Order: sequence, then structure tokens, then C-alpha cells
Amino acid sequence: MICITIANQKGGVGKTTTAINVGTALAATGLRVLLLDLDPQGNASTGLGIGRNDRERSTYDLLLGDTSLQEAAIPTQVPLLDIVPATVDLSGAEIELIEFDARTHRLDRALQRGGERWDVILVDCPPSLGLLTVNAMVAAHALLVPLQCEFFALEGLSQLLTTVEQIRGRFNPGLSILGVVLTMYDRRNRLTDQVSDDVRSVLGKVVFDTVIPRNVRLSEAPSHGMPALIYDHRCAGSEAYIALAREVIGRLPKLAEAA
Ligand code: ADP
Ligand code: MG
Repeated sequence: MICITIANQKGGVGKTTTAINVGTALAATGLRVLLLDLDPQGNASTGLGIGRNDRERSTYDLLLGDTSLQEAAIPTQVPLLDIVPATVDLSGAEIELIEFDARTHRLDRALQRGGERWDVILVDCPPSLGLLTVNAMVAAHALLVPLQCEFFALEGLSQLLTTVEQIRGRFNPGLSILGVVLTMYDRRNRLTDQVSDDVRSVLGKVVFDTVIPRNVRLSEAPSHGMPALIYDHRCAGSEAYIALAREVIGRLPKLAEAA
């Protein structure tokens, strides 16, 4: 099992869209995939068609209760893609966790009890660097970082990388960066190109070749409760996510070696 955490403390940069669609594409190749929705807003759960009433057990129970992964994971409409959904309880979890022993390792512990049932576990993080994201980073082998092509992209990234350094130093020395993916790329906007060039010159090969275009189908799909890859598998957004998943698969063996 390889655990990949999708993190960026900025909201609206494409974390959830990436989690859903990369998860779907990986499952389509035959990998057993589990998506953990760690955002109290539950967008990954909704986007995969898991209604509020179908969230009997959630990532809240996984982190703060004795619920096992096995008990909490439910299938989605995508074959081989399971999910542990999020409920609003999770919004109190950052505070409630403070009282727990090993509060940074709750998720890690949960994954060690039963995580081997899946080949890849993707964790969709909330837009903050609080305890939920810390749990996700402690449990992960690697991070996948969506970066929106906008002027302040690199600024936010340095804060994220500082957190990664701290997590490595204190809890998880093996944490690596699987890659940075540029999202909401707009060909017609020259600023986007500038940002993309800057990011590539600063970060080098860690940036995926694939860029995710700004694509209205990607934003429509969640309201239909399905991955873009099912809603419209031929749109530019879906094609980009298939290409990204291919790159992700190409980077997995190195991770598995280190794991
Ligand atoms: P995050 O999880 O980082 O907050 P989301 O994946 O939820 O970001 O994306 C924020 C919003 O932008 C959502 O409404 C989503 O549907 C939309 N969106 C995400 N990626 C794209 C894209 N490449 N093109 C157009 N809309 C997108
Ligand atoms: Mg999200």
C-alpha cells in the first residue's frame, strides 16, 4: 500500500478534483484505491455521489473513534474505488484531537490497521495546515500538490514546504514529494504561462509534465455526483487527469522501494 496525501493549504486549487479523478483513473487501471475525505466540507464524498445519509461511518470515526478502515470504507460507483466519507463532525476534530495521545498519528495508526487491502490510498486534505493535514502528512509516503497557476502560487508553496520539512524532521523522515501539478491552466492567459515557467524553473522535475486545464466539465461533474472521468471521459479535463494518473503510476515504483 502506498499512501499519497493531496495537500495545499489554499482552498480552491483543485485538491478534491485531483483526488476524485486521479483516484478514478488509477482504479481504472486495476489498482485498488481508497480515497479518504479529510475535509469537513466533504466535497470528495459529494463529488463521488455519496449522499449525507450514506455516511454512516466517516473519517471522523477513523481519527477519533475505534472504527477501523475496513468498517469505514464503502464502495463508490467506480469499480475498485472505495471511500471513507467526511461528515461535518470533522470540523471539530482539530480541537478534539488536541486531547488525544499521539494526536498527530491517529490516521497513520488507522492505515496500519487494515490499509494493506488497497494498493493506493489517496487523502484529500482540507485547506489548512492544521492537525488534519498534519495527520495526513504523517501517514503518507508522498505528497501530491496541486498548484493553481496564479501570481501567488509559489508563495503559498514555500509555506507548505516548510511544513513538510517539519513533518520530516519530527515524525515522518521518509515523506517525499510525489509531484506538483499545475491546475486551472488557461492557455489564453499569459500570466498562467509565466507562472508555469517560474514554477518549473524553481522546482524542476518534481513538477508533472501534465497540466490540468481550466475546464468547465471538471467543475460540472461534482454536481452530478460523478467523477469528470465518468461524466465526460473525453473532455480536456478528463484527458489531462488520465495523463496525470499515468505519470503518477510512473512514479510509484520509486515510492514502493522507499516504503
Ligand atoms: P480544493 O479541493 O483545493 O478546494 P476543488 O478541487 O474543490 O479545490 O476545486 C475548486 C473549484 O474549482 C470546484 O468548484 C471545482 O469543481 C473547480 N475546479 C477544479 N479544477 C478545475 C479545473 N481544472 N477547471 C475548472 N474548474 C475546476
Ligand atoms: Mg477540497
